[in-house]
Amino acid sequence: MLRFRKKSTYLLIIFMFINSINFSHDLVQNVDAELLFEGQKALVHVRRQVELGPRIPGSKESKSCLNYFIREFDKIDDDYYPIFQEFIINNVSCRNLLFKLNPQKPNIVILATHFDTRARATKDDFAKKTPVPGANDGASGCAVLLELARVLQIKEKNLECQVWFLFFDAEDQGYDVSPGIEGWDWCEGSKIFAEHIDAYHNPEHEYFDCLILLDMVGGINLQFIKEQKSTPSLLEEIFEIGRGLDFTDVFPENPNSASVIDDHDSFLELGIPSVDLIINFWNNPDWPYHHTTRDDLTSISKKSLEITGKTVEQFLYNNYLYPLNKSYQGYKPWKFPYYIPYHGTLLLLMCFLAGIFSLIVISYYFKKSRKKGNNEISKNKLTKRGFI
Ligand SMILES: [Zn+2]
Repeated sequence: MLRFRKKSTYLLIIFMFINSINFSHDLVQNVDAELLFEGQKALVHVRRQVELGPRIPGSKESKSCLNYFIREFDKIDDDYYPIFQEFIINNVSCRNLLFKLNPQKPNIVILATHFDTRARATKDDFAKKTPVPGANDGASGCAVLLELARVLQIKEKNLECQVWFLFFDAEDQGYDVSPGIEGWDWCEGSKIFAEHIDAYHNPEHEYFDCLILLDMVGGINLQFIKEQKSTPSLLEEIFEIGRGLDFTDVFPENPNSASVIDDHDSFLELGIPSVDLIINFWNNPDWPYHHTTRDDLTSISKKSLEITGKTVEQFLYNNYLYPLNKSYQGYKPWKFPYYIPYHGTLLLLMCFLAGIFSLIVISYYFKKSRKKGNNEISKNKLTKRGFI
């Protein structure tokens, strides 16, 4: 009986431990750093790209767009210089473009997006052969990267990482609905970049911490989804950072989930923790402009651009801005493919484990009491036979 009381005490302690766990899943606390990202400046970058016309791979507008990026990076800092990757798809000459901040640092954070716009508005009700203006699907991600290049350069000396600003060509020409665009697949530029990534860094001295992909980040009614292939701990951390900045509508606690073919795929295959910050773009009444001619400036929100930019900026400061990052507890290095379990999930898991433990204890005592009974029977038998 004494032993059983001891076990009961153990059980009580376990239940007290379970109850003492803080079930809050917003575990990340943002470091106190001033966020410099300006939505208005990003909005100007969206407008300038849209004014160039559709940035279809191989077009003169596509070249003008890259030249615009180069001029803007040059305005920020002479140390930014353009690194091109040229490739041919479907007999069309395409180009990815890369800029590096802090190239002397060994660890690399990639901020990526696509700059091409879809050659046909295949989901438009009336103008399926007209190009998509690509204000959100193309220009928004680039605009946020350009503004981030400005603000991160200001903190460059205190940033303990290299930052790549990577603009992919030929992401958005794949097949969605009939008749599609012949001869193209999705994410052509990022596939080729990932295939040749060793040409752009020194694998002996440099390594990749993570990649954050921005796709359709500047539209009205912005709400990000839980993209299912994205590295869970990295995506969860970014959502927690966004909520910590009070952007709770954009980074909801229970976001919609979907798996999206996008430019992060090839980097996940390389083993680089990667996320896709993207909206629900398929049959979404809050964003009905995907791959239509209405993906134009009227559907862009300065606030959405700012929310995206400030969240990524905060992410970089939390993890890399010296000395603030020394006190920060995030989920870096994001290698482990787990989510910090949500409230309900964690509670259920604990109850389940407690149940299993109780069963083990009960069955142990049940077996023990049966064995004791058997021993007494055996002892009686032996006594009867006269051995004891
Ligand atoms: Zn698209």
